[in-house]
Amino acid sequence: MRDPQVIVVGGGPAGLVLALLLSRSGIRVTVLEQAATFAREFRGELLQPGANRIFGDLNLREQILALGYVFPPGMDIRDGRKTIRFELPPVFDSRRGDGIMIVPQQKLLELLAAEASKRSNFRLVMGCFARELLRGEDCVCGVRAQLRSGEEMIVRAPLVIACDGRFSAIRRAAGIGVRESSVPFDLVWFSAFNPGTLPDRIHLRIARDQMFVAFASRSNQLQIGWFVHKGKYARLRARPFAETVSHIAAHVPVQLDRTVRQALKGWHDLSLLPAVSQVAETWSQPGLLLLGDAAHPMSPSMGQGINVAIYDAVAAAQRLVPAFAAGASLDEAARTIEKQRRPAIAATQRTQNIITGIMYALGPNATLKFASALIGLGVRTRWWPGCMKREADRLLWGDPRVRANHGPWALAGNKSASR
Ligand SMILES: Cc1cc2nc3c(=O)[nH]c(=O)nc-3n(C[C@H](O)[C@H](O)[C@H](O)COP(=O)(O)OP(=O)(O)OC[C@H]3O[C@@H](n4cnc5c(N)ncnc54)[C@H](O)[C@@H]3O)c2cc1C
Repeated sequence: MRDPQVIVVGGGPAGLVLALLLSRSGIRVTVLEQAATFAREFRGELLQPGANRIFGDLNLREQILALGYVFPPGMDIRDGRKTIRFELPPVFDSRRGDGIMIVPQQKLLELLAAEASKRSNFRLVMGCFARELLRGEDCVCGVRAQLRSGEEMIVRAPLVIACDGRFSAIRRAAGIGVRESSVPFDLVWFSAFNPGTLPDRIHLRIARDQMFVAFASRSNQLQIGWFVHKGKYARLRARPFAETVSHIAAHVPVQLDRTVRQALKGWHDLSLLPAVSQVAETWSQPGLLLLGDAAHPMSPSMGQGINVAIYDAVAAAQRLVPAFAAGASLDEAARTIEKQRRPAIAATQRTQNIITGIMYALGPNATLKFASALIGLGVRTRWWPGCMKREADRLLWGDPRVRANHGPWALAGNKSASR
């Protein structure tokens, strides 16, 4: 392949959706991914209806449904001896409508990479860590990377798009700082074998100021999370590991007691996600654009991260493809993308942080009682306060809603290009 027109750094959801759209539109794109495979540490797996519909737009619906998704029809919230049950309306069933899905990120990324690889203008380099930006007179013009073998690789292109996640090396190399809103919790996470005894729902447990969540994420795996006060995990680690295991086992549904004890043998079995809510000071410089977590590391609250990364990618392709076709300024397109997406991200982060703030001010217990009373009232009277509708809409569909049903990528759908 000739030199790429776009270098995408990072093969996460943002990078691969973008690369797929660009390559389907005939743009030469090279993705540099530091990991050797997509079997990554646990990442977000919740696809909201808005992201799900985008995969439908891209003719990937059947493949996504075949990934072994689990549709949780509802949520059980256990508070002491009482359990509150929420049922999701059928429209959220991904088999019927756009739905909510839990999709293993590894499989999702493998699918996206396989789709993009059908085109000869797409190149994916795995095990390739992008370290530095190459600069021309007054703009970024490529990337210096290192392969696992230690060999250096230099790639040049008129546009570098950093999709390299919350710790973005490219953002740092560009000297771009982040602004931060404080998030009062961290998330401790692990996967365990699913004994198959847990009903297929999202299980939330509340114990004073702590919250535990468990759900099936694929045929034989469970995801189990524990929201801890920021900084508390370091203190926990000073105590015997067995105490932490017993604490978790005591707070997950009773069927999982043995599962938890079998899954947790040492601290290395637990992953800590320090929750952050940040936004880069700027998302673009001449020759450079930041997207996804690289531009705005998302808090895990309300499962938004993958989804907004996908909306970013689609919104970016919608500006970049016509700019390439018309030979127009890519920098102008990058600035427009930032102008379009920045308010959407600010609004989503604000919603996430307000919900988290209320939760921590009132305690999860009182918050969930209040939320369930409000939802109960809404279901009975069919009246929803406008602000609640608006916020729910934003979390489910994105605001503004982003669709990928117009553009050369949609037409290109399932056709594979000759190599
Ligand atoms: C434990 C956990 C739970 C989460 N829960 C949810 C959830 O329920 N729902 C949700 O929507 N979101 C959730 N998130 C967040 C979600 O995973 C991220 O917001 C989303 O993956 C961001 O996508 P991205 O493509 O921007 O970045 P990432 O997914 O972070 O992808 C970045 C990619 O870039 C690669 N990379 C990094 N640096 C370099 C480099 N220098 N050179 C080359 N490659 C590089 C990385 O290996 C990675 O593949 C969670 C995250 C974590 C960690």
